[in-house]
Amino acid sequence: VTTVYQSFAEQVRLRPGKALFELPDGRSVTYAETEETVRRIAARLVADGVTPGDRVAMQVEKSPEAVALYLATLRVGGVFLPLNTAYTDTETAYFIGDARPRVLVRSPERAADGVLGEGDGCVVETLGVSGDGTLLAGDTRPTDGSNASHGQDKPGPPGAPGAPDAPGAPEVFKASADDPAAILYTSGTTGRSKGAVLSHGNLASNCRALLEAWRFTADDRLIHALPIFHIHGLFVAANMTLTAGASMSFLSRFDADAIVRLLPRATVLMGVPTFYTRLLQHDGLTAESCASMRLFVSGSAPLLAADHQAFEARTGHAILERYGMTETGMNTTNPYEGGPRKPGTVGRPLPGTEVRVVDEKTGLALPDGEVGGIEVRGPNVFTGYWQLPEKTASEFRADGFFITGDLGRIDEDGYLCIVGRGKDMVISGGYNIYPKEIEELLDAHPDVLESAVIGVPHPDFGETVVAVVVPAPGARPRPDALLASVADDLARFKHPRAVRVVDALPRNVMGKVQKAELRARYAGLFA
Ligand code: ATP
Ligand code: MG
Repeated sequence: VTTVYQSFAEQVRLRPGKALFELPDGRSVTYAETEETVRRIAARLVADGVTPGDRVAMQVEKSPEAVALYLATLRVGGVFLPLNTAYTDTETAYFIGDARPRVLVRSPERAADGVLGEGDGCVVETLGVSGDGTLLAGDTRPTDGSNASHGQDKPGPPGAPGAPDAPGAPEVFKASADDPAAILYTSGTTGRSKGAVLSHGNLASNCRALLEAWRFTADDRLIHALPIFHIHGLFVAANMTLTAGASMSFLSRFDADAIVRLLPRATVLMGVPTFYTRLLQHDGLTAESCASMRLFVSGSAPLLAADHQAFEARTGHAILERYGMTETGMNTTNPYEGGPRKPGTVGRPLPGTEVRVVDEKTGLALPDGEVGGIEVRGPNVFTGYWQLPEKTASEFRADGFFITGDLGRIDEDGYLCIVGRGKDMVISGGYNIYPKEIEELLDAHPDVLESAVIGVPHPDFGETVVAVVVPAPGARPRPDALLASVADDLARFKHPRAVRVVDALPRNVMGKVQKAELRARYAGLFA
């Protein structure tokens, strides 16, 4: 395969002086400058003892240097392991103990905190938001060039900045498709986060499929406001940009004002649904401010159909919703062209990826229109969970399909509609209830902004339905009126037995509603 690192190195050769990163303070960082930082970090990693297959863990704020650390890890054949910066030290210690990295890179403020066990043999480096810290301290390059290495890269044109074979940089690891490139922990929405081992082939094939599907090229200017410890920000947004030779405005976090300022100079925004909910509350979001934009992508959690419609009415752009997960990268996407982008659907499989909906018990494919378990197979699907061989084995079918844990159906146009997670399905009096059906009805009520439907323990039914509702701005929904409004459209066993009105739903940084938290909160309602 042509790995992500090789594609990046090719872009360095093609356009060394082009900005890869554009920063809020007006600074930009070129492809050649990024490659220069990659080489320095690669040398440091090798000096720290990293050999192919060793994990390099990172828990730092977003910066161009953090992306360079990712690329440097790939360059030396290491396995990149980014960690959520919100993890406490106790949580971080668990992940470090699980992944056993050779090197841990943390922000300077947190470096000394006790997250390492005795005798871990892990080297701690630090990296601050402005490139400060030990990782880039000092210059590891010899000045006389006597230590020149001979990597796989051909030298760039004479005098080109950032010619890849400069002195001091370790050789480029010659990765094969199956070699591990990264371990990404899942978001922990349904339980303890699992480490998904992704190969160079996984990353490269998914990136290529997305570039093609979304017509992403070197002419694109992406607004990047996602975290880089998650698949969306790292393996969709950043990988696509740095392999295409495009540029990205690199924001440390979501900031509606900053995004509205950037829109007139950008072409693409990739976001989680809450980005769009919040942008819609901003007066600066207009058709005019979006005149240079060609694509808005949403994923990581379901986009509200009402937001999809409101966004199109306001800007003229139909948000393109896609579906993916840590274990598989992206699986399906609504069309860039050649078909409608349908609200409430996640589109068709990406080229090379197979998606089927099955009866979960038998594993047999269901006819279109019926709800069942979503399973995927393709070059994007991970090699397994880190150190959980039994878990891995139980999530794959004999024919190689991965059991996603999501439920859905295929509609009349072949588009996948996700109805929720298997673990969120409510079983009441022996009947299966899919929360999404009830949520959609509640969301359509003018007094409701959004809703989450959960199952809670019930002495007679096993579980029963509770609706948690966020009011529309200025509205004061009455539970009995809401219940009356959905009753006619739902069989009696699906009727919520309680409605709770709250200011906001609990969400994580990726905009995922934390239903487990809601279930715990309301567990005692009928028990
Ligand atoms: P864990 O596996 O630890 O419980 P998680 O599944 O939330 O956490 P991720 O891999 O970050 O961890 O998220 C993948 C999940 O996100 C998918 O399985 C799916 O449930 C959900 N998802 C992603 N995109 C969409 C989408 N467009 N619409 C609905 N759900 C989506
Ligand atoms: Mg998951």
